Amino acid sequence: MVQSESVVPPRVRDLKELVNAARVGEEMFGFISDLYPLCRSITGEGVRQTLRHVSRHIPLEVREVPSGTPVLDWTVPNEWNIQDAYIKNSRGERVVDFQRSNLHVVSYSVPVHTRMSLAQLRPHLFTLPDRPDWIPYRTSYYQETWGFCLSHAQLLSLEEGEYEVRIDSSLEPGHLTYGEILLPGQRTEEVLISTHICHPSLANDNLSGLTVSTFLAKALLGRELTYSYRFLFVPGTIGSIAWLALNEDRVHLIRHGLVAAGLGDPGPLTYKRSREGNAEIDRAVGTVLKHSGHPHQIIDFSPYGYDERQYCSPGFNLPVGVLSRTPYGHYPEYHTSADNLDFIRPSALADSLLTYLSVAEVLEDNRTCLNTNPRGEPQLGRRGLYRPIGGAADPGTLQMAMLWVLNLSDGKHTLLDVSERSGVPFQTVSEAARILARHNLLLKQDVS
Ligand code: ZN
Repeated sequence: MVQSESVVPPRVRDLKELVNAARVGEEMFGFISDLYPLCRSITGEGVRQTLRHVSRHIPLEVREVPSGTPVLDWTVPNEWNIQDAYIKNSRGERVVDFQRSNLHVVSYSVPVHTRMSLAQLRPHLFTLPDRPDWIPYRTSYYQETWGFCLSHAQLLSLEEGEYEVRIDSSLEPGHLTYGEILLPGQRTEEVLISTHICHPSLANDNLSGLTVSTFLAKALLGRELTYSYRFLFVPGTIGSIAWLALNEDRVHLIRHGLVAAGLGDPGPLTYKRSREGNAEIDRAVGTVLKHSGHPHQIIDFSPYGYDERQYCSPGFNLPVGVLSRTPYGHYPEYHTSADNLDFIRPSALADSLLTYLSVAEVLEDNRTCLNTNPRGEPQLGRRGLYRPIGGAADPGTLQMAMLWVLNLSDGKHTLLDVSERSGVPFQTVSEAARILARHNLLLKQDVS
């Protein structure tokens, strides 16, 4: 009899097969290309436009926190917006022009309109002498100042003389804007996926993380989920601090978490462990990377980096790691104009998304099981579960997985324990458990 399963929402384990990697990679790249020109910062219209764009793919709830709101040890800053900025030479030519690259202005620059000599202007100019063609990315969120970033080659070409300097910005009471979506599962405990949305025209850091988060949420939307999934699209540091401050009563529901950042570059995947170091999320990512067949690295927690700094602060100590590709600061393009659309790859974006889906699959399926026939091995051959001809040296991976699952299913070990101890990929262990459960040899218990 053929069962119609079309009305049953696929579980996470089926999703990877539904995702066409080549097509989704191109879609994600297109999504990044649309967002790339926007001038984002930790507040302002660029963030709102970005979240509106995300909202076309997933039903995002956009929150506005007023400037001046105390959040933990911080205060929500004034809102920054910018229309235009330039440096004009004595002939009235724009030698540095915000319209050509939004990286030209130090983020959060206060408005200025004045004339000055090159010597007076010089302390306000930032370049990268080692990379003379790249424009650096600089910010000054919490100290009121102004500045321009330009290529070192541009700086060397500036003549002595008087310059007109204009930054048409505003820094006034307004709001901090962030986006949030909760995909409800059977359990109220949550998997947190957090990504920062505050960088202007930089592709890998962090339009790639924002995009993997969006497409992951899109893939999980409407699925049958064990956990609830909360996605946060927040400005770096102040955004996660604001969310934690405003949600202190529900932080305890976060059972697993990942910070999504730097996911489009061609480098190998890197996982930075949570502060605890051996949380289930650390082990879930570890097993996925181990069996990915691709080079990868796993590094220990340190209190520097992205928003894991807040989630893993000692007063919260959440099991949140960072799953990225090349770590921040370890590629020369980091925080420069060279982190552009040429630096990221559709294939890397797709691989990152599939890895996140694999991790979700482990979290969703990991549970303790009970062998219903623990005294001696159950006779698998009678049930068609054992190869008909005995004696081969290698019983096969699925067969071995069944033996391991039966042996360790004492109600104490989880399927992740089985995968780690046996060296068999989690997906195969999980498949073995499903087969055994179908033959009433195993009782799958709830997630612990
Ligand atoms: Zn950054």
